[in-house]
Amino acid sequence: MDEVIARVAQAIAAAERILVITGAGLSADSGLPTYRGLGGLYNGHTAEGLPIEAALSGPMLQRDPALCWKYLAELGKACLGAQANAGHHAIAELQRRKPGCWLLTQNIDGYHRAAGSPMERVIEIHGELAPLYCQSCGAVDPELSEHLKRPLPPRCRQCAGVLRPPVVLFEEMLPEQAIARLYAELRQGFEVVLSVGTSASFPYIVEPVLRTRQAGGLCVEINPDSTDLSALVEVHLAGRALDVLPKLLSHI
Ligand SMILES: [Zn+2]
Repeated sequence: MDEVIARVAQAIAAAERILVITGAGLSADSGLPTYRGLGGLYNGHTAEGLPIEAALSGPMLQRDPALCWKYLAELGKACLGAQANAGHHAIAELQRRKPGCWLLTQNIDGYHRAAGSPMERVIEIHGELAPLYCQSCGAVDPELSEHLKRPLPPRCRQCAGVLRPPVVLFEEMLPEQAIARLYAELRQGFEVVLSVGTSASFPYIVEPVLRTRQAGGLCVEINPDSTDLSALVEVHLAGRALDVLPKLLSHI
């Protein structure tokens, strides 16, 4: 594998336009449960007998905010209880060295921000868990961890409206601005795409890979397991991001 890593590193070193795509597998290396989008913390159903996709949906947040928040709080505690790992730090370092390196993440834990990725080149396609904001008056509230210790749902200090995280719940639209940025960058094209710890069932993950390959670029997957994407990339580095990314960076 070391020879392949050296070859990929060479391609990255020579490239200006690079896209790193990250998913739950990267955060799993930090000890977060592997979840698919918001749902996989649970196997199928909640204690209330609902599919987790229904509990963590936009309509449920409106209909029964306490129930939705019960599961948002579990996500929040899991994310606050872990931290960025060597994989996040390697990506941030790559972005510092390469001003044309963009990051598209499905993760909502905020670890890329914590690791120092330049946020003007980070596209958070599923949003983030913090800071909370008021659904009624829009006030921003940075105290996620404090709210998780109190009765749910968390309420706005100013108007007592229900707070929510800037995250994409099930049945909600992807953030328009994030999509627009992604497609604007895709039109400019990428020479290398690195897909890290994602199973890639969404079009906005598959499309950058397909477009880059069509244009003659190099697509690389870093994942201990085979995924839907494995057949679409030229190189599959079967390892954990935590191990592979720092190795890759040491060659650049
Ligand atoms: Zn309010």
